[in-house]
Amino acid sequence: MKNLILSLLIGLSLFATPAFSTSCVNTYFSDKKEVTVYTTKTGNKYHTGTCRYLSRSKIETTKKAAISGGYGACSICKP
Ligand SMILES: [Zn+2]
Repeated sequence: MKNLILSLLIGLSLFATPAFSTSCVNTYFSDKKEVTVYTTKTGNKYHTGTCRYLSRSKIETTKKAAISGGYGACSICKP
């Protein structure tokens, strides 16, 4: 019986790894200086929040992520 409790405690401690909280902190700091832009479902451009092209779909992302995802700057709103 004592061994069962011990193995349960060891099992629980495996879930308490610091990996999850570390990735949260990293995301928070890396997002701090990002510019928020918006992409659409069908387009290949990224836009500012007020652009008229966002009337159909509006997917929030960062400028860095949009560029690395192959999106180009909109020529109308010039984000
Ligand atoms: Zn635009």
